Amino acid sequence: MPVINRIADYYDDMTAWRQHLHENPELEYDCVETAAFVTARLEEFGVDEISQGWAKTGVIAVINGKSEGDTIGLRADMDALPMPEETGLPYASKIEGKMHACGHDGHTTMLLGAARYLAETRNFSGRVVLIFQPAEEGGAGAGMMVEEGLMDKYGISQVYGIHNMPNQEVGTIETRAGPLMAAADVFEIEITGKDGHAAQPHLTIDPIIVGTAMVQNLQTIVSRTVDPVDSVVLSVTRFNAGTADNVISDRAKIVGTLRTFKKDVRAKAMERLKTIMEHVAAMYGATARLDYQHGYPATVNDAAKAAFATKAAAEVVGDDHASMDAVPMMAAEDFSYFLQEAPGAYLFIGNGPSAGLHQTTYNFNDEISPIGASFFVRVVETAQPV
Ligand SMILES: [Zn+2]
Ligand SMILES: [Zn+2]
Repeated sequence: MPVINRIADYYDDMTAWRQHLHENPELEYDCVETAAFVTARLEEFGVDEISQGWAKTGVIAVINGKSEGDTIGLRADMDALPMPEETGLPYASKIEGKMHACGHDGHTTMLLGAARYLAETRNFSGRVVLIFQPAEEGGAGAGMMVEEGLMDKYGISQVYGIHNMPNQEVGTIETRAGPLMAAADVFEIEITGKDGHAAQPHLTIDPIIVGTAMVQNLQTIVSRTVDPVDSVVLSVTRFNAGTADNVISDRAKIVGTLRTFKKDVRAKAMERLKTIMEHVAAMYGATARLDYQHGYPATVNDAAKAAFATKAAAEVVGDDHASMDAVPMMAAEDFSYFLQEAPGAYLFIGNGPSAGLHQTTYNFNDEISPIGASFFVRVVETAQPV
């Protein structure tokens, strides 16, 4: 079964919505105009309930089915990125330094397409809760919605989301059981030594020597602490120290990212990081302080829901174009917060040949909007039949 015919008819409208959103990107929690646009469309479609102001600018809509039943959640992110656009498109960003470079304009459009169809047809039981969230790109908008009680208030029993993927074949849909994307934490280490003249190193405690030893030893977390079958990334991305060529400074700062898929691996790696930091500092007579910031948790699909969503996808794109063999990524995604509350799945939809996500020449492929919308609809109609 291909794209739902009625949704294929929306193609021109969806393209117009998407390109309007693309022209008017907004950042993080500041999705005011985007939320107003989404709300206006939802009102036109005749959804049963709209609730604004979730996570500041998020929009929730409810569509009731033909009979009693469960509540299913579908999510799209709405925010753009703080970067210039260099696509040269006629509908390129009108706002300097802001760009829809992750395709959230397309995600919002796909969910709007599904909303329109579901409000027209209502061939499902229970109800659908549509989640339009701000602040996926840092800020954890999904986390804020969860904290505000979204999942409990509506009793969402399963939840689905989809992200476009450049250079994956157009319209193919992939996911996998278990971890799909990583937890991404940030560590900041501040080393304090003793300053002095560069010609008298014996009277100093050189924080650069301490820091370089720390950077070297931190790499052993990946190579010698964690089971080799578990994926971990530890990257030191900043190392700042010193002010002059003849001064040994008294402090250095090391900043990096630690990415993991499993909770126990995350905890173990963090613990080891702290131990290495303290002992390396002590070895040189320095001290060190750790500021560890937990970022988005890992995006972990429920195995049964991932299989179910793949089957629903296959009904739209065919068996050959829906798979559970997606390769996990060490990037992070805040849909993870919803998946901590209810079983569900996150999936990737092929954007075709294109620049990568977060590149200045990236663009969402409008051809896939009806496919994504049809996917959402099939998920609802199959999960909650009348
Ligand atoms: Zn992104
Ligand atoms: Zn994204």
